[in-house]
Amino acid sequence: MVCKVGKDSFGNDYVDNLKQNDISTEFTYQTKDAATGTASIIVNNEGQNIIVIVAGANLLLNIEDLQGAADVISRAKVVVCQLEVTPAISLQALAMARSNGVKTLFNPAPALADLDPQFFTLSDVFCCNESEAEILTGLTVGSPAAAGRAALVLMQRGCQVVIITLGAEGCVVLSQTEPAPKHIVTEKVKAVDTTGAGDSFVGALAFYLAYYPSLPLEEMLKRSNFIAAVSVQAAGTQSSYPHKKDLPLQLF
Ligand code: ADP
Repeated sequence: MVCKVGKDSFGNDYVDNLKQNDISTEFTYQTKDAATGTASIIVNNEGQNIIVIVAGANLLLNIEDLQGAADVISRAKVVVCQLEVTPAISLQALAMARSNGVKTLFNPAPALADLDPQFFTLSDVFCCNESEAEILTGLTVGSPAAAGRAALVLMQRGCQVVIITLGAEGCVVLSQTEPAPKHIVTEKVKAVDTTGAGDSFVGALAFYLAYYPSLPLEEMLKRSNFIAAVSVQAAGTQSSYPHKKDLPLQLF
């Protein structure tokens, strides 16, 4: 986890939380120059959310910080980036991964209409949700078929694999090797709080890419759908993510 938080109580809690979950905090930098980034989340009765992000210290993660983590990035199985830090820093991390032959998984969240085109070419796997796909392509993405069309547009910008997540509808995938969009359906569950479902999905996919690289992509996505469906059945974001020990053995 390469990131920056404030030297404040949220930042301290964040570091403690990572430690409790056995995640290295070697590159979780703490700064006095900004408060820890926060997200105010409003969830309605259907479990849908509105999120207001205040980036705070996230925007202070800089090239020197990234250089400090160069060794761990170059030896990773998978590097996952998104846009809650400055886009230039995410781009640099993807470039560092790519130049070392490390698989890259990019999640363009929160969405940016004028995304640097290098994000597409530096992403082995480009994974976004419906609204991000709409902002990036200008197309309406209200169905799996429409998501397939948007995925095709994104693929033409240079990604190897494009995945568009579709909430309760699962996801759509397209790859250079299988250029017809495929809809991967998911479990019917009662959603309590969908906040963080996309991150749960991306985290699960990163796990499969890293530890089960020979699993067919479609199978990775079925399992990632399953894990994200577990996460929407409990309140909160990280607090709703299942631990490996609580998931069915068939997933591993
Ligand atoms: P985001 O959280 O970024 O808006 P989505 O809403 O597309 O992303 O959700 C990501 C993934 O989480 C989906 O592809 C699906 O696997 C799972 N998911 C989300 N909402 C539900 C739901 N209501 N029922 C089952 N699975 C869901």
